[in-house]
Order: sequence, then structure tokens, then C-alpha cells
Amino acid sequence: MINLYDLTFQQLTDLLADWGYSQFHATKVWHQMYRSLPASINDMAEIKPSLQERLLAEATLGQFSTISDLGSKDGDTRKFLLGCADGQSIETVIMRYVGRKDRPDETRRFTACISSQAGCAMGCVFCATGQMGFMRHLSAGEIVGQIIFVEQLLRQQGAALRNVVLMGMGEPLHNYDNTMQAIEILTDQRGLGLGARHITLSTVGLPDGIRRLADENRPVNLAVSLHGATDEERQRLVPPAKRWPLAVLLDACRYYSEKRNRRIFFEWTLIAYENDTVEQAEALGRLLTGMDAHINVIPLNPTDGFAGRPSDPQRVKDFQAILARYGLPSTVRQRRGIDIAAGCGQLRQRERPEG
Ligand code: SAH
Ligand code: SF4
Repeated sequence: MINLYDLTFQQLTDLLADWGYSQFHATKVWHQMYRSLPASINDMAEIKPSLQERLLAEATLGQFSTISDLGSKDGDTRKFLLGCADGQSIETVIMRYVGRKDRPDETRRFTACISSQAGCAMGCVFCATGQMGFMRHLSAGEIVGQIIFVEQLLRQQGAALRNVVLMGMGEPLHNYDNTMQAIEILTDQRGLGLGARHITLSTVGLPDGIRRLADENRPVNLAVSLHGATDEERQRLVPPAKRWPLAVLLDACRYYSEKRNRRIFFEWTLIAYENDTVEQAEALGRLLTGMDAHINVIPLNPTDGFAGRPSDPQRVKDFQAILARYGLPSTVRQRRGIDIAAGCGQLRQRERPEG
């Protein structure tokens, strides 16, 4: 069976051409899929009956089963455990977009945090996804399908999706081709037309993937997870750092910055007395000074497999003050959905599916 969400517009056009249907029909199917958001091929309107029959016989609109649906107490975050056709499960999180308080319309806008893999092979010690290991890559259609799921839900509530962050389970640059194909589909103006500037890809820092993003002019925002400013510190937390030292990673980042002329976001999970020290802050300042960089600091969210503690607010402030002296702007990422283990790095923590 073909999952129609796997296909770019061109691939759909080619498939239907093989079946003897013109681009006119491909456009209709595409509009149906991405504008009407039908739950199944049966629900697609205005499709030529013979084509609909062929689609029913050979294709699906890959939908997930909802294994669990948890809402945070503050009502701003909802975490879904979604079941894939082969029994794998992945997590997708919806967060209310916190915009300007004087713009009530903005409170109806949301951010989706989506997964790129089932599990993750990178093994960062403080991350629940890393602790569970790697299951498999998600297909482009499974990445797109998460956004369809979110859009269907938000539409029922009269709300809209504003931002997409590839910060759920998995390492998107380890699943480069499927992730890029999904982004191409999601940003296609004939369909969902999500703004690439509203999509952020977060990577553990795979230099080849970062260079490829630059060479291929992929228009998304780039966030690089650093967590350590010396090789020794970074290797303790992020195993891939053993293969790619900071000098190699930062070379790739500078290449990206120059080629794309874009700011890079760096993520830093702050762990008390581990990587929130004056020495680490100074080393980070020296490493990034002069670059068009913005640092997102995320006080550690608890996971079962890691004993570290989050930095307290004073240590977070002190860390930021040192960065500011190096001319580096930083923001503290709001902690969200911690009560339902939907915070960064907590995915797949508590409600593992039975069996
Ligand atoms: N694999 C990608 C994207 C998913 S992780 C990456 O590593 O960037 C998204 C972000 O959450 C990363 O910056 C990651 O370092 C961070 N993170 C992981 N576990 C965390 C935890 N327990 N507390 C806070 N942030 C965490
Ligand atoms: Fe994978 Fe990112 Fe978690 Fe590291 S932090 S294990 S790269 S999901």
C-alpha cells in the first residue's frame, strides 16, 4: 500500500500519470488531502469515482491510532502517544503558542513538536528517548501524518498551527532524506503551505547533515544541541561528540551561517554543577563569540535514567550573564508539560505501551 502522505506533489502527479490521470486530477487529490484533511480516502470529495476506487485499492491516508492523550494541568500542553501501522509508537506534543498577551488572537495559535524517528540512536544520557534506544526511522508520510493529526485536531477547535519544531523523538539529520521530503510536503504552497521560517529543526549536531542543509538551501531554522563547550564535557553528555569534536561541529555551523546568512540557535540543557559552571559558560562564550548565534537554555527536565538536577534560577541567570558579556543573546526555554512528561527529552517516559 502506498501512503499518500509519503509523496511530494510531483510524485503524486507521476503516480497518477502512470494510472492515466492528468495533473488536473493530481491537483484535486492534493487539495483534498491538505486542505480538507479527510480521515480516509472514502471521505475525499470531488474525486473522479474510477480514481477514488484505484486509490482505495492501492493507497491509504496513513492515520495513527491514538494510544494515549494527556493534557497538562495548565491546559497549555497536550501529549499524544500515536501508534504506527507496524506497532511502533511515537510522541507528538501540541503547545499553546505564547505570543503577545495583548493579542488575544495569538492565544489560538499552537506549536507542534513532532518526532522524526521511533527512539533515537544518539544516546544522550539525560534524554528519555536516548535512554530507550533506536527502533526505526519514520517515513516522510509518518512525519507529515503527525502534522495532519495536529491540524485535524486544531481545526475542530477553531485554532491554527503556527510553529513546527522537530524536537520530539529522534535525530532528524540521522533520518535526513525522509525529514527533508516531509518538510517539502508540509511547505508546499498548493497544500498546507506551512512557512519554512516557522519550522525549526533541532539536531544533536551531525556536521555532514548541517553542511548538506546549507548546500541544499533548506529554508528551515536550525537549532544545534551543544550542552558542553569543551570536548571532555560534551562527550560525557552527548556520545556523538566522541566522533565529531567541537572544532568539526563548529566548522560546519560557521559554514552554514555564512552560506545561508542565517542565525543559528544553540540549545543547552542546564544541569546543576555539571554544565552550568562559570568555566563552561566562559568556554561557551569563547566558542561562539562573533557568530550570529542565540542560545536557548533549558533547565534539565527529569528522566528516570539520569540522576542530574536542573540548575536553580540564580545559576541560570548567572550563566546567561556570562554569555551576555560575550555578546551572546540567550533565552530560557519555558518548562512545559512537565507534569505529563511532555517536556524536552522526557518523551516516551512514563506510559510505555503494554506488550
Ligand atoms: N535529537 C534532536 C532533537 C530532539 S531533542 C536534538 O538532540 O537536538 C530536543 C531538545 O531537547 C534537544 O536540545 C535536547 O538536548 C533536549 N533535551 C533532551 N533531554 C532533555 C532533558 N531531559 N531536559 C531538557 N532538555 C532535554
Ligand atoms: Fe536523540 Fe536528541 Fe535525545 Fe540526544 S537529545 S538522544 S539526539 S532525541
